[in-house]
Formats: sequence, structure tokens, C-alpha cells
Amino acid sequence: MGNQPSSSEARHSRSSGELARIQRKLAGQSARSAPRKPKTSSHESLRDQAYRGTGLEAGGTRKPLEAPTPVVISQPGATGTAAGGKPRAERPCCAARDLSQAAYGLNASSPPQKSSMIFGQARVTREDFMPLKTLGRGSFAKVLLVRKRDTGELFAMKILSKKAIMARNQIEHTMAERLILGNVQHPYIVALRYAFQTEDQLYLVLDYCSGGELFFHLKREGRFPESTVRVYIAEITLALEYLHARNIIYRDLKPENVLLDREGHVLLADFGLSKLLQDNQDKAMTYVGTVEYLAPEVITAQGHSFAVDWWAMGTLMAELISGLPPFYSTNVNLMMERILKAELRLPEYVSPEARSLIAGLLTRDPSKRLGSGANGAAAIKRHPFFSGLDWDALMQRKIPAPFQPVRSDAPLDSTENFDTSFTDEAPTFDTSAEEERVRAKLLQKAAHERMQATASLPPANRSATDALNVLDGNLIPWTKTPGKVFEGFTYVPHHGT
Ligand code: ATP
Repeated sequence: MGNQPSSSEARHSRSSGELARIQRKLAGQSARSAPRKPKTSSHESLRDQAYRGTGLEAGGTRKPLEAPTPVVISQPGATGTAAGGKPRAERPCCAARDLSQAAYGLNASSPPQKSSMIFGQARVTREDFMPLKTLGRGSFAKVLLVRKRDTGELFAMKILSKKAIMARNQIEHTMAERLILGNVQHPYIVALRYAFQTEDQLYLVLDYCSGGELFFHLKREGRFPESTVRVYIAEITLALEYLHARNIIYRDLKPENVLLDREGHVLLADFGLSKLLQDNQDKAMTYVGTVEYLAPEVITAQGHSFAVDWWAMGTLMAELISGLPPFYSTNVNLMMERILKAELRLPEYVSPEARSLIAGLLTRDPSKRLGSGANGAAAIKRHPFFSGLDWDALMQRKIPAPFQPVRSDAPLDSTENFDTSFTDEAPTFDTSAEEERVRAKLLQKAAHERMQATASLPPANRSATDALNVLDGNLIPWTKTPGKVFEGFTYVPHHGT
């Protein structure tokens, strides 16, 4: 059991792609990869702009930059407890136990949960929310600013197309996001308020983070002063410490996923790649992430654990201070090579304390990485970079945020921190554009598979053509029981347009 890949991981491990070949070449192992998180082109261009003009270079070569590249890296035949690790143990953590049953059982025969509300009593439907603005788009989701009609409260509603999720084998990731978010409560993690589904879509209703993505502000500023970075990284440290204590690896730390609330405090969002480990000795083998932030043990497919989040935090810290991830290259192959081997180089203006913390977090051996020792995050919190910081006050949100991202006279529904390419779009619940994007990807993949077939390469486990059939509503009988497949999202049939 411990060495069997989960179904989704097994599927990923059999998929093929350019990055897989790079990864295999680098790691000398048979890992595969496939893209997961294509951001929209407008988002990509934002990131390009963010790095331009920073006056910084990665590894000595300044080049035009491109969007972060999403990958899946997996080691076939293995997930769960690492060889030599302790056997899986029951852990006295209710949240974790609930999650493991629901998120990873995905048992179609068990009864769906009854309540659509995470904190409260009422059952809600889509009609209870009025769409106000489009805030953003992800790979399978669009996110709207909505107002709850009865209370007037504002929320961010993440809407996912079931067909798109199924066609791209993302059921497990989606379930993990819903279940992890539904079981965590922390001042620096976005709160999930409602989760429900209709026949075609899933809905996650989250607190609205009107400060937007940290990425949006990094783009504007180029880089941040160390005093600013200190508060952001400290808040992120508390959030990661909390997740790790519940055996959750976040796995997708990057400035796009760090949102700010109106006051300017950090809120970690997008738990689509998070992983619940069975116990703290367990290891995950498949990683879906963004190349810039990948830890070396992920690239070499050794199995990974909580330490990948500390590596990503080191990368993020260097990026916030200098404007660029430290091993950045437009060439993905070279970037992975640099992550594995290159000397860590930071601009001269970086203070010795910041330099030392970044170097501690970017320690290649995960067992020696800062944060990985027996005392976990405590070692990070004691680092001189944070000297004088009152961690208890920080936990109580009593340390002022570095800056207030929303003008104090701006209305609560202000979307000034979101890109106008999204906010100018009509705010509709429709996700056909998301399905179209997935279809375009699958068509690309089908063409690639045809090329592979010509070259006599082994076929992928599930062909792109099969996946297109799923998207078009053909094939697989379990699409007929969506309420059970997406257990935990209360089924509330949609009436009206
Ligand atoms: P990805 O393809 O990166 O996995 P996704 O499909 O999981 O993305 P998210 O990253 O969760 O989608 O959301 C897309 C965008 O919507 C975010 O980058 C952010 O700009 C916006 N967004 C998400 N949640 C919120 C929120 N709670 N408040 C404000 N904006 C949000």
C-alpha cells in the first residue's frame, strides 16, 4: 500500500512531455511531467513586466523573462511512506484524519456530506450570490467577486468546471483543496466559507482578499525593502508551520498565491496542489508545481516532504528582496540545473542576516535545510533576520502590515488590486471559456501523442482523445454521479440562468 501511487499520481506518472525528458535527463530517473497551471496570457505578460527593469540578473545573465512553468514530476511506482520511513501511524489530529478519509478515499459509495456551509448552518446556492466582478482565472477556475444577497457580505467565488477537472484528472487535487481549506483556520490562510456544487460546476466561496496577489505588488515595486519582506515571510512562516503541524504540505508557494487582505496581511490561497501526508514521516513522490520554486529533491524525484515549502519560501524571499527567483533562467532545463548545482548568488545590497536566512532555507539537503530539524519552524523563527520580532503579537495580527494595499477611502468592493484584463470582463458564472482552454490543451496533447505514436513511443495511460471525450460528456459512467465524485461539495441543483 505504502508504495502504490494514488490514481492521480499514477496517471501523471504515465503522462509525457518536454519537461519530463528534461527532468529525466537531469535526475537520471524515469519521471514524467505534464503542465498543470497554465496562467492566462494576460497573467503571463504581467509577470514578464514584473521582472523587467529590476536591474537584477539571475546567474549573471539578464534575459527577457517568461511566466513560471508548471510541471508534474513523479517517480513511478511510489507514493506514501518512504522506504525506511516509519510505518504509517494514526495521528491524533482530527482535521488530518477527516481529510485523509474524505480527500483520499474518494469513495463513491459513501454518502455525500450534508452541509454546504463550512462555518454556520445555512445551505446556500448560487442564486444566493450576486456576481460583481471577475477577479482572476486559473487553470480550471474563474474567480468572481460576489455579494451575498441576504447579508451584503463580499466573497471571492471560485468556480470550477467539473468536465474540465475530470478531463484533466484533477479530481483529487480539487478534493484536496476543498477538504484542506475546509479544515484549516489560521490568520494567514484564506478562509473557505461555503462549498457547493451544481450539475456542472463546483463552487468554493472564500473570504475576499481585496489586496490582490503579492505578485501584483511585486510587479509594481520591482522589489521590496527587507523590512517589508521580514513581515511577509514571518506571516508565511506561521501559516506553513500551522499546515505542517497538520501533516499538510502546501507545495505551491509563489507570489501569485500569496494574497493580501485589505489591511495588507498575507493570506495563503490556492490549495489545489497541497498534499496531506499520512504522518510526519510520510513522503510524497509526485509534485505538481512551478519550476522556479521546486526544491532539488523534487527535481531528482527522491520523495519530498514539508521541507519543500521551506525551500520555496527561501526562493520567494530572495525574489521579494531582489526581484527575481535566485536560480531563474528563461531556459527551464538550465533553471533546474541551477537549482541542483549553481552557487547561490544574491545582489550585494542584501543584508548578511537576510543572506544567511535565504541560504539556510535554500540548503540543498532537505534534512539539513533550515526548518527541517526536530524543532521545525522554531529554528526559522529564531533566525537573526527576525530578531526582535514578537511572534505572539504577529500571530494575533497585531504587527502592522508593511503597507495598506487598498486606499482607505476605497469602497469594500474595490478591485483596484486586480488586473483590469480580468475586472473588465463581464462577471458571469459561465465556465465555458475554462473548458475551451482545457480542450485546446488536450488537442495539443493529442497532436503530440500522434507524433509519439509515429516515433513508436509507448502511449500515455489515458489518451488526450479519451480526455476530450470526457470533456464532451461521453464515456466514463461516474460522470453520472457527480455529487458522489465531488463529495464534500453539497449538491444544490441550479435553477434559472
Ligand atoms: P492555478 O491555475 O494557479 O491553480 P486556480 O485555478 O487554482 O489557479 P486560484 O489561483 O485559486 O485559481 O485563483 C485564480 C486567481 O483568482 C488568483 O490568482 C487571485 O488573483 C484570484 N483569487 C483567488 N482567490 C481569491 C480570493 N479569496 N480573494 C481575491 N482574489 C482571489
